[in-house]
Amino acid sequence: MELRDTFNRKIDYIRVSVTDRCNLRCMYCVPASPPPCLKPSRILKTEKLLQFLRIARGHGLKKVRLTGGEPLLRKDITGLVRAIREIGVEDLSLTTNGQLLPLFAKRLKEAGLDRINISLDSMRPERYRRITGGGNLQNVYRAIEQAEGAGLTPVKINMIPIRGVNDDEVAEFAALSLKRRWHIRFIELMPVGREFDSSLFDGRRVTADEARAAIRTTGELIPIGRSGSSANYRLAGGAGTIGFISPMSDHFCDSCNRLRITAAGRIRPCLFSDYEADISAASGEGDMERLLLTSVLSKAKGSLLQKSIPCDAMSQVGG
Ligand code: SAM
Repeated sequence: MELRDTFNRKIDYIRVSVTDRCNLRCMYCVPASPPPCLKPSRILKTEKLLQFLRIARGHGLKKVRLTGGEPLLRKDITGLVRAIREIGVEDLSLTTNGQLLPLFAKRLKEAGLDRINISLDSMRPERYRRITGGGNLQNVYRAIEQAEGAGLTPVKINMIPIRGVNDDEVAEFAALSLKRRWHIRFIELMPVGREFDSSLFDGRRVTADEARAAIRTTGELIPIGRSGSSANYRLAGGAGTIGFISPMSDHFCDSCNRLRITAAGRIRPCLFSDYEADISAASGEGDMERLLLTSVLSKAKGSLLQKSIPCDAMSQVGG
């Protein structure tokens, strides 16, 4: 039986945060005094995660995305990818900051990963370092190259334009799609984390409309339809595509098809929801299935956006 929520949305996509640890400190993701990372014993055990995903697969799960934290810091990420592949999902992807990807790209592909999203907020080395709290831009370029070489395609680049920080690079990022077969995605900054001052987010957010306007000064944007949360375009003659993800200015809750699992093993029906169901406490398959079904039925109709996301940092829930 497929999973349908009370608003008749079909739920067939799960995003799993496989660790809350990260090797970067992105300014909009990790607060200045970050919450302590979970002790390893508090991270959801691989067997329980797989058991849960198997149950969800039995209810029509099609897509899984691994995220974090930085998923490549998860011990035996390759083994986890292989095991999830064996469950039989149709689309298995991973979001990474790319710093460690050159070491993993080939192995991840061999283990059954389909594709990859790489976060990249600036193409200026010093600015990139500042936004990410120490990241090395060259590593990201190597990561993109290795991902393409390994066949983890299409490579998607996630860019968050932030006013006064990197918004002057929006058109430059879009232009990457002219020659490369990359999917450049502009994501609106979201108010995540209790420690952050919400005015920081409100004052700095660049909306999808604003990003489109910046790109149109350099070329025509041809709409090519939606896929999931992304409104997609192509620059005339472009090899790749451009997507806009607008959770704040034009939310896509009507077509939401996802659940999230936090690094601690809590199911969240929505990034913005404060409902959580604890998989790690489930005592058996029946109990786990009940948690899955209840979580799906707990999905709110939409836009819970007026409040900030109830967590200390994005890395706990998984971006
Ligand atoms: N460490 C990996 C990475 O950097 O891609 C995966 C985790 S990160 C939390 C996943 C995605 O969430 C990234 O593309 C990041 O840009 C996005 N993200 C984090 N905080 C965000 C925020 N406040 N608003 C919008 N997107 C955010």
